[in-house]
Amino acid sequence: MFGLKTDWSLETLPRYFTLEDYEGGTARWCPGCGDHGVLSAVQKICRDEQLVPEKTVCVSGIGCSSRFPHYMKTYGFHGLHGRALPVACGIKARRPDLTIWVATGDGDCCSIGAAHWVHAIRYNMDMVVMLFDNNVYGLTKNQTSPTSRPGLKTNTHPRGAVLPPLNPSETTLGIANVSFVAQTVDWNPVHVYATLRRAYHHKGLSFVRIFQRCPQYTPRVFEDAQRDPSLIMLLEHEDGVRADEAGTKIYKNRVAHDPRDLNKARELAAREDVLPIGLLYCDPTRPRYEEFSSVGVDVTIEEKMQALDKEIDRFAI
Ligand code: SF4
Repeated sequence: MFGLKTDWSLETLPRYFTLEDYEGGTARWCPGCGDHGVLSAVQKICRDEQLVPEKTVCVSGIGCSSRFPHYMKTYGFHGLHGRALPVACGIKARRPDLTIWVATGDGDCCSIGAAHWVHAIRYNMDMVVMLFDNNVYGLTKNQTSPTSRPGLKTNTHPRGAVLPPLNPSETTLGIANVSFVAQTVDWNPVHVYATLRRAYHHKGLSFVRIFQRCPQYTPRVFEDAQRDPSLIMLLEHEDGVRADEAGTKIYKNRVAHDPRDLNKARELAAREDVLPIGLLYCDPTRPRYEEFSSVGVDVTIEEKMQALDKEIDRFAI
């Protein structure tokens, strides 16, 4: 009786969705901000996968990248600081049929939202989580974030950040039930697109760390890697991110990496001499919490009462 009813069909006329069907308001990010390219990639993926806009939701917390839902013509939820993931999990728990994109930043996810991040990874609900990692709080105008590198001068540390930074991918790979971790760089649109599309096709929570330029406050952070392609390490595997060669041929530094190898994934994620991009880890067999939380959704009051009576009757003496 308490089984999941999976017919969430909408009465929509069959139609072909163009890019315009996903384009929301004009993006107000700074010129040259890495967020622009990621937005374009997600809109293209929506078009290429023909995602129904009425069944697509973009969720965010607070920060520059968290303006993402405003720029998508889908459903959206611009939430509280650090709370993108519990909102996204709540949506997935009740409407497992929806496609969910989460936009969060290094401050939003890895600081105030850290507890939610840990548990969302363990819940492994089917969604794409894009971590825009620019190493700084940009929206509130230049404060040290958990991923700021030592020496970075900010308003909170005018003489330079002092603590070693937190590595979001390495941390995620240490959480129980992690099922997908990838990395990409915002300045390579071909690789961003391929990485996020691969993430979309993974069943479970796909965590994608995007090394994101912030020309306003951290213009030097990714400057070397952008100018010198040898500082990028391309991870290759038949089950990995398969980006068009035309967009990745500049990367000569390549390694074969089996994304089922968790120990190797952690080792690669920890590298600081190069930026490894591609699929670090993937295990599609991990349990997904929506398979349990959605049981009982969409049943009538009468059905719920009958099921409750049946449970209570078990304790009758
Ligand atoms: Fe982008 Fe930085 Fe401007 Fe924010 S402050 S919109 S992250 S360039």
